[in-house]
Amino acid sequence: MNMPSVRVVHGKDGIPIMVRDEEPFFVDRWSDEIGNEYINEYRLVFDFRQGLFVEITQKLEGSIGWFSWEVTLDQIDEDTLMRLKESGRLEIMHEKVREIMQQLTENLDSLFFDPIGDRRRSCYVCGSDAPHECIRCNKDVCDQHAIFAETEYEEPLTYCHECFWGAVEE
Ligand SMILES: [Zn+2]
Ligand SMILES: [Zn+2]
Repeated sequence: MNMPSVRVVHGKDGIPIMVRDEEPFFVDRWSDEIGNEYINEYRLVFDFRQGLFVEITQKLEGSIGWFSWEVTLDQIDEDTLMRLKESGRLEIMHEKVREIMQQLTENLDSLFFDPIGDRRRSCYVCGSDAPHECIRCNKDVCDQHAIFAETEYEEPLTYCHECFWGAVEE
């Protein structure tokens, strides 16, 4: 199914600040007493500070101009709420916001994960990032300068090159 998309609005620092639905969940056409035709479009917006609300855009038929205002969900009438429910846009928005929250949480975890210990880990051979540690000399080594072995009980062992060849010769 090709779902109409929602748009994520990012701040200057690349952090998402808002998710806007591209698809109106309700398009209401109506006319006033003197016969002017209006189109009201209702769209969902999720703001990471203000929460969920509905943006209503009003256009006079045949004109270019439009204006818009925002209301919270409890300010819209029951009929409009029913349109929202039928459109399925609430679920799509919810899913997108959940996805972004999850990414933010993962980023957050990586920011807070042992910032001091991690920064110091660089390969003692070449100086690049060292995700491994030699079990013999405890020096940090990168992927290229690590050798992976196993004990007879299939427990993983990581050596630096020097210690590995030293162990082999013993
Ligand atoms: Zn290295
Ligand atoms: Zn070593």
